[in-house]
Amino acid sequence: MKIKRIAHLGVAVQDLETAMKFFTDSLPLEVTHTEDFNGMKIAFIPIGDSSVELLQDVSGASAIKKFVDKNGEGIHHIAYEVDDINEAIAELKAKGIKLIDETPRQGAHGMSVAFMHPKATHGILMELCQPSVEPH
Ligand code: ZN
Repeated sequence: MKIKRIAHLGVAVQDLETAMKFFTDSLPLEVTHTEDFNGMKIAFIPIGDSSVELLQDVSGASAIKKFVDKNGEGIHHIAYEVDDINEAIAELKAKGIKLIDETPRQGAHGMSVAFMHPKATHGILMELCQPSVEPH
């Protein structure tokens, strides 16, 4: 498995518009991509080689809703880009690392993603992601 970079930090927010305003008005950053995905509104804000991924629940039933209810706004997960997500999953499984997703699933921004269990990663929800081979 090769981990290439921190692809993004997932940040759970109450209100996407207000959070985006902070990043674009108070910080000199730009939102380059927004999408509705899995009951969430998501915005990507590139910073160098990485991004901040803002996540707002809209369905009342997403993982972000649960997180914000419990913890308030804040860092929700950290995502590592890997060169081969299937190989990365197999390698972690072989090492006995607990995963939430044992097979890759479709994530936001056309990524294949799989989450590791925070109990296996010192309390941090970690996402593996690989850009889709499909053009998007
Ligand atoms: Zn993410």
